Order: sequence, then structure tokens, then C-alpha cells
Amino acid sequence: MKTSKGTTRVSKYTPRGYALSVRRALAGKGLFAGEDIPKGICVIEYTGNVLMGRDAEGKGGKYLFEVSARKTIDGNVRSNSARYINHSCRPNCEAIVRRGRVFIFSRARINAGTELVYDYGKEYFDAFIKPNGCRCEKHRMGS
Ligand SMILES: [Zn+2]
Repeated sequence: MKTSKGTTRVSKYTPRGYALSVRRALAGKGLFAGEDIPKGICVIEYTGNVLMGRDAEGKGGKYLFEVSARKTIDGNVRSNSARYINHSCRPNCEAIVRRGRVFIFSRARINAGTELVYDYGKEYFDAFIKPNGCRCEKHRMGS
């Protein structure tokens, strides 16, 4: 983030730059930790085109991330690696909305080679995941 003086301000919400890689996962492609990631840090920002007001209505699409009643981020852009993070009912990450932006935080220590997952929320789950059955770790195990 640039300040008015042009210096880069590092905050809790600055992605820490841990290595991540896109690989084949059970639910299509997924985003995996390339190295051990500690608990409670910002791993990556969910970025994309900002849609305001009614622009998002009727667009559909599973990469839409509603950050407020008026603002939606369309994450279906090549540069947004966070779009590969799959849903899990037993997540190791969480999406935190702050000032109209979305940051993915680790909510547990994530070992190298582990897939990053977060809970997409009930609305998304019911619309996109439930119809085909959830393939997250918890549901695969049948618990
Ligand atoms: Zn599940």
C-alpha cells in the first residue's frame, strides 16, 4: 500500500509473500502452500475488478466476492491467485473484509504442500456447492 509520501506501509493486512502454488486438487485446481505458513498472518489478497451497485446483479459467477451491500469484487482475473482457494467446511484460512478489500488469513499453521481452504459461507455453499456435494476434507471423510 502506498502512502502519500510514496513509501510502502506494511500492516497486518499486507500479504507476507509466502510461496504459493496452483496445483490440481480434488475440487479442480487449488492453491497450495509452497512452504510452512504460520498461524494468523495475511497470506494473500483476493483481488479483481470492482463492481459497484447494480453492476454485479445478474452477473452470477462463482468468483464474485461481495464485500458490502454496494460493492462486489469479481475475482475472475488471471492475476488473482486467491481465486484458486477452494471451500472447506474445516478451513485453515479465513477471508477477512476490510475497507472494501478481501484478505485471506491463515487461521492455523499450514504446512508446506497443504492446500489452502476457507469457508465460503452459507449463501455460496447452498448455491454452488450443495447441489453437487461438498468435496472438502470433512465431507470426504463422511463426518
Ligand atoms: Zn464440506
